[in-house]
Amino acid sequence: MSRQEYETVMGLEVHAELSTKTKIFCSCPTKFGAEPNTQVCPICMAMPGALPVLNEKVVEYAVKAGLATNCEIERNSKNDRKNYFYPDLPKSYQISQYDKPLCKKGYIEIETSQGKKKIGITRIHIEEDAGKLNHDEFGGGSLVDLNRAGVPLIEIVSEPDLRTTEEVDAYLKKLKSILEYIEVSDCKMQEGSFRADVNVSIRKKGETKLGTRTEMKNMNSFRSIIRAINYEIERQIEVVDKGGIIEQETLRWDEVSGKTFSMRDKEDAQDYRYFPEPDLLTINLSEEYINNIKKSLPEMPESRKQRYLEEYKLSEKDAGILTSSKYLSDLFEKASEVCGNYRAVNNWIISDISRILNEKEMEASEIPFTAEHLGHLVKLIDKGTISSSIGKKVVEELFENQKEPEEIIKEKGWIQISDEGAIKEIVQKIIESNPQSVMDYKAGKDRALGFLVGQAMKETKGKANPQMLNKMFAEELKK
Ligand code: ADP
Ligand code: ZN
Ligand code: MG
Repeated sequence: MSRQEYETVMGLEVHAELSTKTKIFCSCPTKFGAEPNTQVCPICMAMPGALPVLNEKVVEYAVKAGLATNCEIERNSKNDRKNYFYPDLPKSYQISQYDKPLCKKGYIEIETSQGKKKIGITRIHIEEDAGKLNHDEFGGGSLVDLNRAGVPLIEIVSEPDLRTTEEVDAYLKKLKSILEYIEVSDCKMQEGSFRADVNVSIRKKGETKLGTRTEMKNMNSFRSIIRAINYEIERQIEVVDKGGIIEQETLRWDEVSGKTFSMRDKEDAQDYRYFPEPDLLTINLSEEYINNIKKSLPEMPESRKQRYLEEYKLSEKDAGILTSSKYLSDLFEKASEVCGNYRAVNNWIISDISRILNEKEMEASEIPFTAEHLGHLVKLIDKGTISSSIGKKVVEELFENQKEPEEIIKEKGWIQISDEGAIKEIVQKIIESNPQSVMDYKAGKDRALGFLVGQAMKETKGKANPQMLNKMFAEELKK
């Protein structure tokens, strides 16, 4: 049967690293990228007798995430041990939450080409991250780095409400955007701060029972998630079409071959032998505590977009792009404040900056320059110090080199030529060396003027002031 005769069903478990300064059960720092095993202590190394103490910020951040995704908040939540053996998990159990997660029964709204749709959030719970195995670095062995052990995570489990890869993409982007707005996670996918387990199944259209799912773990790029889902759907259809059955299993997605491989049979929940963590207290939350967090929630993407439509009269599309990311919209607001020209700032972000981000496969959070840099660049163009075509080169340069735009253009010799004498000299030179175009212009071919201006720009490597060139050519050609 063809793909059209099947419905595809996806549900995601997203792990987001919380941006607390310290770990979930000890006071070790969480900063990414330190030398291996320099951010560890007896608690996160699991020395016998060491006792965990819950970091209050973790609860606050998780409740924030729950409220921002319309969840109910559990007043009497608790931690549980999830037991499994793996060399990156020094205690041989992970402290997580089982039957009383902090948040449950929420939803987020996504928008695709099919319109708006609510995707259910089953639960959000807190847990600790594991360490990291570094393979093959020293002659074939594996070494464990426990810096990440005990870094706080929230796991956001969706209902199996997703039906297309477009919906999956929209869901992940919306969720990431929400977490960035409420500033509980930096969501840097390259650093593993935002990663998803992707569950996929198929069923015949019209069937109400869910099919057996397979799960692909720890995916951290939008592109591979979409590729992996498409591959997995085709694979499952082929198995079913040949009369086979789908085994519930955990798969590994291989980016290079573009295929999934079986990792292991799916453990059932009881295999983890969950039981309440005896070394931690229940987490009792008061109404007042929850209300205070509710009040502290910032402006969210939708209301910010609405404000941009009204306050700045931006187009629906531009306002949507800017507010889809907190980083982009903060950049827009701060740079506009610096230069006072929000239209120009909007244009730079929507066109050149977005294009470069795409080309470099970078996220908005990784933009290396500041809002001041961008604001100052717009000012230089508005003052006529540089043309906007030089501005494009400055933006490219800002991605490589975070200097003041003023310094960049001085160093590169990109300052616009606006000196009347100098412009006149160039204009005369171009007129002399292009007699045919001059005759064309005088014979009424206005287009020839554009050609001459273009030649002058080429001669000055884009540095001549274009308005002055136009004016000067018109004057000189009248003579
Ligand atoms: P586990 O933690 O063992 O993987 P969960 O019950 O927490 O299992 O569910 C994991 C995810 O799988 C959820 O996001 C859920 O929506 C999704 N899911 C469950 N059943 C299916 C299915 N038949 N097809 C696709 N996704 C599913
Ligand atoms: Zn520690
Ligand atoms: Mg799972």
